[in-house]
Amino acid sequence: MNPLSDRVQALRQRIQRACEACGRNSDSVELLPVSKRQPPLLIRHAAELGFRTFGENYVQEGIGKAQEMPDLHFVLIGPLQRNKAKPALEHFQEIMTIDRPELALRLQQLSAELGLARRVWVQVDLWGETTKWGGCSGSGIDALLRMLAGDPGLTLHGFMAIPPPGIPQAFSELAAMRDTWQQKLGRSLRLSMGMSDDLEEAVTAGSDQVRIGTAFFGERA
Ligand SMILES: *Cc1c(COP(=O)(O)O)cnc(C)c1O
Repeated sequence: MNPLSDRVQALRQRIQRACEACGRNSDSVELLPVSKRQPPLLIRHAAELGFRTFGENYVQEGIGKAQEMPDLHFVLIGPLQRNKAKPALEHFQEIMTIDRPELALRLQQLSAELGLARRVWVQVDLWGETTKWGGCSGSGIDALLRMLAGDPGLTLHGFMAIPPPGIPQAFSELAAMRDTWQQKLGRSLRLSMGMSDDLEEAVTAGSDQVRIGTAFFGERA
């Protein structure tokens, strides 16, 4: 038995059951494997199962893996400092953690200078946990979306969030916020929320992408 394929199968079942329970099509939920602190060999095994895109938290680690495995795509799901914006834009296919105007501006300048087109996501935090995970809220979301909405190089793809534990309505609040912005901007925006322990709640609330580390790869080093 291959533990990785067993875990992936179990995950697909969890997603499918959650979708069935709320009348969603299970194809509508993307499973993004989070490979932070997992060895390249395991990522290779996941690639053999058909996964092509992996989430990484740490800029240096993710760049190392992107260079080592140029046939795969890596997206940044961890905090980004402005002074690392250039290597991040060069090596990650998507930046999912834009949470402040200074960072957005820097990425916009670099994208234009380097001629690099990238998908980007705005990280939101509606509950004021800013110090721990990053993320913007309220008028901060407004400012970022206005900056990014018409950018020729950076395509605004959606919202990413890591709701703090203990707020059961967090996922539905995020979904409502996404719906509001879709209406305002007149375009569809994806919602990335849900991890190993809470993917069912996230899917039920309308998540388009769950980011799964431990339940996919096993415990991290
Ligand atoms: C680590 C991490 C995940 C995956 O967490 P698990 O609980 O291991 O599934 C998802 N999203 C972000 C932003 C993370 O940092």
